[in-house]
Amino acid sequence: MYDLIVVGAGIAGLAFALTAIEQGQSVLVIEKNKAALGASIRNFGMVLPLGMPTGNALNRAIKSREKWLDYSKKANFWANPCGMMMAAHHDDEMTAMEEFHNHHSLTPYRTRLLDPDQAEVICPGVNPKGLIGGLLSQTEVQINPQQAIKQLTHYLDKQDDADLIFSTRVIQIHTKDSGVDVHTNQGLFHGKKIVCCPGHEFSDLFSTPEQSKPITCKLQMMRTIKQKQNWAFGSMFSTGLSMLHYPAFDKVKSLEAVKERVSYDYPELIEHGIHILAAQNQLGEITLGDSHHYGDDPDPFIDQEVNYLITQYAKKVMQLPSWEIKEQWMGVYSKAQDDHVYWTQPQDHVFLVTGLGGTGMSTSFAIAEEWFLENA
Ligand SMILES: Cc1cc2nc3c(=O)[nH]c(=O)nc-3n(C[C@H](O)[C@H](O)[C@H](O)COP(=O)(O)OP(=O)(O)OC[C@H]3O[C@@H](n4cnc5c(N)ncnc54)[C@H](O)[C@@H]3O)c2cc1C
Repeated sequence: MYDLIVVGAGIAGLAFALTAIEQGQSVLVIEKNKAALGASIRNFGMVLPLGMPTGNALNRAIKSREKWLDYSKKANFWANPCGMMMAAHHDDEMTAMEEFHNHHSLTPYRTRLLDPDQAEVICPGVNPKGLIGGLLSQTEVQINPQQAIKQLTHYLDKQDDADLIFSTRVIQIHTKDSGVDVHTNQGLFHGKKIVCCPGHEFSDLFSTPEQSKPITCKLQMMRTIKQKQNWAFGSMFSTGLSMLHYPAFDKVKSLEAVKERVSYDYPELIEHGIHILAAQNQLGEITLGDSHHYGDDPDPFIDQEVNYLITQYAKKVMQLPSWEIKEQWMGVYSKAQDDHVYWTQPQDHVFLVTGLGGTGMSTSFAIAEEWFLENA
């Protein structure tokens, strides 16, 4: 009988399992694929307090940041506390960044306003043409999600009190007084409690009320080949468009002008939920995205028109020695309707944690810690 069974070996499942070990509990992780292949390996690897609204989300991101830095040493993976720069190529964007910065001087965001020269030093990947300045957030950490998830999985597997089984699908969970019986396609497992972190596939295990059900989002991403001669992109990168996307900026009044201009000049970016994020991994490749299409059962196809729109806008605001694309993919996440996590207890001893939207890499460690405080 395990103290805890965890479903899913994405970042949420791993965070719960690692925290269980920190708390001296025994844990079994059950993952349906041969390795985590979901949103947790398909993202930018941005640990991103800047995107979070103040309160729980921001505090969780700041706390999780420390855990990432700590686990990067313990589990031996690359983590770069390089920060995130938002580039302003329009006056209205710079005005909105100034308003955000001035309003948040006492919060944990740790932002700094940059003139064009400073912006180019911090992020040589920015296009200097038309650059007005930028906003640097100094709390962001870059990881390579494929490497980090793999290394965290190995690290967990080496712990005495942790077992991981792959290629095993959880089919049903039955509650009894002493805990849970977990039925899988490979047999039955017993635990005192179970936390299910199935990402967007939560409906396979639980029915959720329609009015609070997390929504599904399909995103398109791409990666360039390794940039030549160790060319360094600098900090992680975003633009004024991201202010329209992240709830952290919801209260910035001067953002209205950005919204109006972008809606007029680039309606197709709004239509496809495109904003530009870019980051260089330790291999020298640039990960670039993304788009957002909401709705259940997303189709599996990469729309080249959407990738063209992403690349065309990126070329206005970034410069790269090589734009040659090595790979493209789509990712899917579930997003809580009015929060950055959907956690619920459908039955005794049974918990569901999903709906992390675009923030799961940034908040999962802190969410797991909070759960243990309440439920251990
Ligand atoms: C393109 C993209 C970019 C993103 N960029 C960022 C970013 O830069 N920063 C950030 O903070 N967040 C980002 N996110 C969001 C982040 O990736 C997700 O919030 C996070 O990965 C969700 O983690 P998860 O463990 O809940 O889900 P997943 O990673 O999807 O893991 C769920 C796991 O559960 C397994 N599973 C499901 N059902 C069962 C079952 N019945 N039995 C056994 N196993 C099962 C699945 O196989 C899967 O491995 C991005 C997401 C995408 C798609």
